[in-house]
Amino acid sequence: MRQITVLSGGTGGAKFIRGLRHGIVSGTLPGVPTDAEVTVVGNTADDWWIHGLKVCPDLDTVMYTLGDGLDTDRGWGRRGETWHLNEELAAYGVDRTWFGLGDRDLATHLVRTEMLEAGYPLSQVTEALCRRWLPDDAAGRVRLLPMTDDRVETHVAVPDPEAPSGRRVVHLQEYWVRLRGEVPAETVVVVGQDDCSPAPGVVEAITGADLVVLPPSNPVVSVGTILGVPGIRDAVAATTAPVVGVSPIVGGRHVRGMAQQMLAAIGVEVSAEAVGRHYGSRRAEGVLDGWLVDEADAGAVAGLQQAGLRAAAVPLMMTDDDATAAMAAAAVELVR
Ligand code: GDP
Ligand code: CA
Repeated sequence: MRQITVLSGGTGGAKFIRGLRHGIVSGTLPGVPTDAEVTVVGNTADDWWIHGLKVCPDLDTVMYTLGDGLDTDRGWGRRGETWHLNEELAAYGVDRTWFGLGDRDLATHLVRTEMLEAGYPLSQVTEALCRRWLPDDAAGRVRLLPMTDDRVETHVAVPDPEAPSGRRVVHLQEYWVRLRGEVPAETVVVVGQDDCSPAPGVVEAITGADLVVLPPSNPVVSVGTILGVPGIRDAVAATTAPVVGVSPIVGGRHVRGMAQQMLAAIGVEVSAEAVGRHYGSRRAEGVLDGWLVDEADAGAVAGLQQAGLRAAAVPLMMTDDDATAAMAAAAVELVR
């Protein structure tokens, strides 16, 4: 298995890919050579424009995590960050300063926005940014592709007693950062999804892979939005590579983030088994061959097997690169 393609969101996906790369270079993944290449198809439905800048939180989290530039305590943004820009914007009374834009991070958004405005598609911009964070000569080569070059943005309907309709629609960033995910999400609307197309190389990365992995990313607003790009789901269904997923739900809860809120919004129970069934077996029009659950969810294995999936229960907490590489090894083993 020389070509591995991962459909990733931000924090959960990036951490998994780091462990996967660690497993590759240390030769601990069964049947995977130490020079195997990873292609990441990154979620861009979290992206938004703010203060005139294009911000791509999930792509940046993957870049910074793999390029060792992430603030691992905070879990997002740049290590050694300062916040002068945000303070100055707040002093002007600028709206939306609840969305933290760090001074170091700002450079990424400036380079991106300038290139986009010069006419480069997001995929080429991402490639340019990755020359710094994911150089070609690095051990354990990783290539990062945005799922699409088109503008796609996830919005969420939340209750608003003051609105005549009793609800209000906010961008996912506002739901998560300003509202802290503390109000129920009634519906998820992915604006632009139906009219977008996969970025160059995305379909080929899936159909030409030796293994496709759905990491423990949010099943709705990370992996779900990637699979929602017309053509991507079909590519996953059609690839000759085995497709294996890792549950982001452990013991009936998400580990962090907002998977619980998002699953509730689409009417899927918050359990490793329900998420595996939601993705479904490729033998029954789904996207998976195998689904890895945590040991705490071992009771789900039989039901998942009945649903046509290979399934196994192993520890799924990404406490460090070794633990995560062991998860990746179990995922590979499950569908080999
Ligand atoms: P986001 O874009 O930053 O929300 O990140 P992702 O969508 O890539 O990943 C979010 C998911 O990662 C959440 O649903 C978490 O439950 C999951 N997650 C985070 N840490 C762990 C972990 O250690 N183990 C597992 N199994 N899932 C995790
Ligand atoms: Ca995200």
